[in-house]
Amino acid sequence: MPRHPRTLAATSAPSSGQQRLVDELRRLGIDDERVLAAIAKVPRHDFVDDALKNRAYENSALPIGHAQTISQPYVVALMTQVLLKGRKPQRVLEIGTGSGYQTAVLAELVPTVFTVERLKSLSEQARRRLSALHYRNIHFGYADGMNGWLPYAPYDGILVTAGTEAVPAALVQQLAPGGRMVIPVGLQGAQSLRLIERRGAGIREADLGRVSFVPLLPGKG
Ligand code: SAH
Repeated sequence: MPRHPRTLAATSAPSSGQQRLVDELRRLGIDDERVLAAIAKVPRHDFVDDALKNRAYENSALPIGHAQTISQPYVVALMTQVLLKGRKPQRVLEIGTGSGYQTAVLAELVPTVFTVERLKSLSEQARRRLSALHYRNIHFGYADGMNGWLPYAPYDGILVTAGTEAVPAALVQQLAPGGRMVIPVGLQGAQSLRLIERRGAGIREADLGRVSFVPLLPGKG
């Protein structure tokens, strides 16, 4: 049985814009072929408004309304690559569904994806979009992601797509033993991407360099 019951884009070749983006990500150091194949497959133009479709394959974050952005493809690729390095996570939790683009990239690579968004309209739009693209391995939650998503915990991987001042304790607790979280820590201007690995009772933390994400906001919007 195929691991991902999705066929739509499987047969369609990447557009020239998509291929240029993949080449650019390769030049920037993304070297996990699984991740590059997912970027080549997911139609990013389906995740932005009509007025921005001609910029969908630029390596930049773009506005998605509600003062939020679809993440920069390089950052999506980097976070996914770090999450997958040397392993095959089965269940991954994403905090900050937003447009659903990072969710789709994860859904190409991981058997089951859980994604939580605090803004109802974004959550519903992403759900519709990903359903139209025939993704069937994604669970959508509408809640404050700082609390993680307890009923489905623990997760082999957690990916946070908005910045926090400190790593939320609930997220660390919902990591499976040996599980890995990638999260931007610090507020805008002084934010760095951190890799956090759960090791027995403790955690191991590594700094992956500067990033710039919109802040994680408390409560439902
Ligand atoms: N992965 C998304 C990134 C969207 S930007 C994409 O590529 O499109 C960050 C998202 O996090 C926004 O949609 C924002 O509404 C959401 N967010 C902010 N605070 C949150 C919280 N506490 N819980 C869940 N989602 C949150």
